[in-house]
Amino acid sequence: MLKILVRLAWFFNVHKWRYLFAIFILIIASILELVPAFLIGSAIDLFQRGSLGIDEAIQLTTVLITVIVLGYALNYIWMRSLLGGAYLLERTLRSRFMRHLYLMDPPFFEKRSTGDLLARGTNDMKAISMTAGIGILTLVDAVIFMGLILGAMVIVIDWRLTLAAALPLPIIAITVTILGKMIHTRFSSAQAAFGKLNDRVLQSVAGMRVIRAFRKEKADEQQFEAQSKGVFDRFVRVARVESFFDPIVNIVVGLSYVIGLGYGAYLVFQQQLTLGQLITFNLYLGMLIWPMFAIGELVNIMQQGSASYERVHDTMGTKKSVPEPHAPVPLKSHAPIVFQDVCFSYPSTSQNQLDRISFTVNRGETIGVVGRTGSGKSTLVKQLLKYYPSGSGEMTIGGVPIRELSQQDMRSLIGYVPQDHLLFSLTVRENLLFSTPNATDAQINDAIQSAAFTEDVRFLPDGLETRVGENGVSLSGGQKQRISIARALLTDPEILILDDSLSAVDAKTEAQIVQNIAQERKHKTTFITAHRLSAVEQADLILVLDEGKITEHGTHEQLIQQNGWYKAQATKQSLRNQG
Ligand code: ATP
Ligand code: MG
Repeated sequence: MLKILVRLAWFFNVHKWRYLFAIFILIIASILELVPAFLIGSAIDLFQRGSLGIDEAIQLTTVLITVIVLGYALNYIWMRSLLGGAYLLERTLRSRFMRHLYLMDPPFFEKRSTGDLLARGTNDMKAISMTAGIGILTLVDAVIFMGLILGAMVIVIDWRLTLAAALPLPIIAITVTILGKMIHTRFSSAQAAFGKLNDRVLQSVAGMRVIRAFRKEKADEQQFEAQSKGVFDRFVRVARVESFFDPIVNIVVGLSYVIGLGYGAYLVFQQQLTLGQLITFNLYLGMLIWPMFAIGELVNIMQQGSASYERVHDTMGTKKSVPEPHAPVPLKSHAPIVFQDVCFSYPSTSQNQLDRISFTVNRGETIGVVGRTGSGKSTLVKQLLKYYPSGSGEMTIGGVPIRELSQQDMRSLIGYVPQDHLLFSLTVRENLLFSTPNATDAQINDAIQSAAFTEDVRFLPDGLETRVGENGVSLSGGQKQRISIARALLTDPEILILDDSLSAVDAKTEAQIVQNIAQERKHKTTFITAHRLSAVEQADLILVLDEGKITEHGTHEQLIQQNGWYKAQATKQSLRNQG
């Protein structure tokens, strides 16, 4: 049950002084708590013997008040240290969690839902951090405080009476073992359900427009209701187990009282015990209630913490799906880029999404990739980003296989405009600066110019300072695409990848952007995937893909000669344009 503390040993080790201090103070405070009961018993005995004078009464009262005030101060100190420790743990864990997420590549996120990751990063962190705060408190109370009380009973009163009164205690131990396991499983499942609920909320909020358009608000709400009821039920199942514990503590304490009072009265009768001692003993018995509840609380917190720890650990334990090379080779040259018989399939699929792809790109060349939807265009250009474990065949840059290059080196070469372009909820300028934080205004203007966005900026309410995205102005698809292009152009990358990035602009704007890019990137490599062939007409090499295979390749003129898919498509598209 306390495995979780062992697993968090690294944390306690770093903060050992904080914890040793807190526990030390906690123990002193616990000892102080034993004093009043003892004083009261003594007072009664003095009174019975008729020797309780005014001086003794003042003395006793002074000690009592001092103890209470001191106890108050000490309680404040340990509470601050312990609860502060819990927040520290939460913060440390959360930073580690985030750092891990930054390291992970797409396959990781494809397997996990955002809502579930959110649940792990919030609720689970909370549950784990509880172990380092209230968890430690209940541990000290359950073990040390209880030990102290039992010790005081033995020393100050009578060991036989203590033993007799402690007889029912094993019932608690048994209960704890059984209930602890139940709490663990039930809490795990409740947290998992909470993760799913998170997901549902995210989806509903993101998809609100679609939900409204199809008038599915009611249906969505009902589904949400049902799901949140499910989560509720699961947490109730946890609470139900928890609430089993308290009545059992009450029964055990009741039994202890019966035994303690019966046997105690007998001992008093036999004159082996004074009345004051019996009263003190009973006060101590009363004080045992808290440590016993603490055991229940301890089990609860530790089990929830360890269930949560397993969930978080499961996420943090995942390795990158594309491991870094042991001895990364430094990049020698940015060209040529050679694909030799490259086959690839996504981790989640069995058939090949790329099939024996071979081509060579020399420095300064532009490569067009076209083909039907789903033919593998995006998959092909993404190979350079090292997002997924590579398949068979060889990809080299400047003669070095890309699997021997560090991810950092590789990605620093590339400016990537993904097909599902994403802007952050920031101003246009901040979105642009995202790639190159210290770009000058002149550079920004150049990039905007090349991406044919200059005109649009003028119509934005605050120009470059206009906030876009969730809590700002909604941009058109084409505007978003061009900001994404400008963002990539700002880094002036050796390799630029435009994945279907001109699909939402008109033919004239497309021609303009293509021309700008061709001019500015004369000595650099550019990949353009597109549905509209006009976007790749000027390319030095055009690859036509179908079901992951290159079916045609060559320049625009060569492909027109070939009378294949490209020719047919070109004819269709030019007819449409004329029409
Ligand atoms: P489009 O023109 O629509 O952008 P595309 O040519 O870019 O299509 P890809 O996105 O490369 O096509 O997809 C090629 C194939 O790989 C498709 O069958 C697709 O379903 C599959 N695929 C794409 N991404 C993944 C993924 N992350 N996991 C599994 N399969 C995927
Ligand atoms: Mg694509």
